[in-house]
Amino acid sequence: MKLIMLGAPGAGKGTQAEILSERLSIPTISTGNIIREALKSGTEMGVRAKSYMDEGKLVPDEVVIGIIRERLAKDDCKNGFILDGFPRTIPQAEALDNMGAAIDRVIDLEVPDEKIVERMSGRRVCESCGASYHMLFKKPAADGKCDKCGGTLVQRKDDHPDTVKERLRVYHEQTEPLKAYYQKQGKLAVVEGQEAVEDTTRLTLAAVEG
Ligand code: AMP
Repeated sequence: MKLIMLGAPGAGKGTQAEILSERLSIPTISTGNIIREALKSGTEMGVRAKSYMDEGKLVPDEVVIGIIRERLAKDDCKNGFILDGFPRTIPQAEALDNMGAAIDRVIDLEVPDEKIVERMSGRRVCESCGASYHMLFKKPAADGKCDKCGGTLVQRKDDHPDTVKERLRVYHEQTEPLKAYYQKQGKLAVVEGQEAVEDTTRLTLAAVEG
């Protein structure tokens, strides 16, 4: 199964992608996580991406397309994958089509902007493995510690309110047109994000199977 998780930043794509990844035993590929890793290790790509990321802007298409091309060529993608945060522009979607990655379904997770701003302020991520949590909706078992690896949970710099507003503007302008793109291909399934993660998961699973 080859899936794309589409939706605004903070809509809960990452959480749903992680759950689906476990259920379907296929990897989640998050361009955001790959870029943050590159940044931590100080690679040239990471350094180049930092200024865009910090301002809530998109990293240039050729950079993320290169990341995905390399990642999809790896062995663990043979039986499928879940793309979280890619594609985010029409040229990225076209590049993906040209790679011959026959996508089965695109799950569009819909959450109103006001809710997103509220949710982002409570979001925390593990600085070691990138797993995501929420102080109200998805608490870790131990305060400030990742359930999966014990790493420290931190607030991402780009989750601060002003940057979130810019990320939403960029989403509406550059990423939202992808809904029509995949609708035309007959692959789009819309899921309304719910308050409780389990409720959203139920709808997501139905959309994947449907
Ligand atoms: P995310 O963790 O998916 O919210 O991504 C965090 C940031 O990484 C974004 O705000 C962008 O600056 C950059 N990024 C991640 N994925 C992409 C992409 N597909 N295209 C362009 N920039 C991206």
